[in-house]
Amino acid sequence: MLRVNILTVGDELLCGDVRDSNFQYLASILSDNGIEVCRHMTLMDKTEDVKKAIILSLNESDWVIVTGGLGPTTDDITKEAAAQALGVKLFKSQEKMDELKRRFLSFKKSMPSCNEVQAFLPEGSVALYNSIGTAPGIFAANASGKKLVLLPGPPREMVPMFEEQVLHKLLKESEDRIKKEYIVLRTTGLGESVIQQKVTESKLEKWGVKSAFYASVGDVKIKLSAVGSDIEETVKRLKSAERCLKRRLYPYIYGKGEDEILEKIVGRMLRRQGLTLSIAESCTGGLLAGRLTEVPGSSAFFHLGIVSYSNESKIKQLGVNRKTIEKYGAVSEYVAREMAMGVMWKSKADIGVGITGIAGPAGGTMDKPVGSVYIGLADKRGQIVKYFQFPGDRISVRSRTVQTSLDLLRRRILRIV
Ligand code: ATP
Ligand code: MG
Repeated sequence: MLRVNILTVGDELLCGDVRDSNFQYLASILSDNGIEVCRHMTLMDKTEDVKKAIILSLNESDWVIVTGGLGPTTDDITKEAAAQALGVKLFKSQEKMDELKRRFLSFKKSMPSCNEVQAFLPEGSVALYNSIGTAPGIFAANASGKKLVLLPGPPREMVPMFEEQVLHKLLKESEDRIKKEYIVLRTTGLGESVIQQKVTESKLEKWGVKSAFYASVGDVKIKLSAVGSDIEETVKRLKSAERCLKRRLYPYIYGKGEDEILEKIVGRMLRRQGLTLSIAESCTGGLLAGRLTEVPGSSAFFHLGIVSYSNESKIKQLGVNRKTIEKYGAVSEYVAREMAMGVMWKSKADIGVGITGIAGPAGGTMDKPVGSVYIGLADKRGQIVKYFQFPGDRISVRSRTVQTSLDLLRRRILRIV
């Protein structure tokens, strides 16, 4: 990690007259960007003190940022101290002198002689333009390539100078040095806020791991990231955080990686166990078959998919009992079960899935409102049927049904349902 020391100069800071907001501002922007602030010193307007602090800081850090003491008065000693610390002299920059004179002319004033010191720069340094006041900032490097930045004290001058002329250099150097590693964990079956809460409770900070969440219908991605200069050590910390979340979020985490979508995971599980699958879909109209067969290699496990919308087709194609439909309705636990068993037998597959529900916007009743869905699953261990009440419009109900069916299949293969 890039290391930075921050020195704030001014008697007024030490007697408590002025709150050191420059330090606070710089420290927070640096930490937010993964840069380590190693040390902060507040110093008196004394050349010797500032010089010593700069020498010490250049030794222990990669960058040293000093604010204050760049003005034209006798108590402004930062530049002199910096030149001494770098072992160079101050030289008069004619360019800066002309610029200063022009600035004063534009205010319709002549330049007081004390301001001439502002045109003096440590040898080998570059001036930073001050868009608000007259004191230029300074950017210098020592023989070992350590950087020294001098910024004016008034925050309204310091902040724009830092943001426009310094920050990008720091970020570039920091990026070259630290590596960011991340992993993506994929979850289904829990809402984003519940996941977030569980992740917060896991206190991933103890491994220096940050989390971010990306939610789509029925699916929340958790992105874990960590920074560090030693990749192996960073990956280790990420793995510890991953193990912790896998325990806490069991069995909701179904995969790891940007490409590891649920249908791919389920397909792989079926293939590995040599199981075959057939599905009968009503309200999802073939969407489940579509998702499963989108993954290359699905022919190894996918036998038959039937879109069975009408009652007649459920009876004729899937062998659902007419009396079951008459007694319980086409959207019912019993019909979902018979659809799953029917398609499994018809195709001689190991697993059958039957889906029946009301995607809306019409067709809802008091007992079975829009969003009511039954998902049945049959295999040699028996049958299960789950009832769901999904929120949202037609598109949302249908995609939640597909996602939930895939998850039910996953859980069945894992033998947790
Ligand atoms: P000037 O040309 O205004 O003298 P300078 O670079 O010499 O600028 P200082 O004389 O050190 O800066 O400080 C000028 C004023 O800036 C201070 O009186 C104070 O109000 C503000 N200031 C200086 N340092 C800080 C700080 N660390 N945090 C907040 N405000 C500061
Ligand atoms: Mg001053």
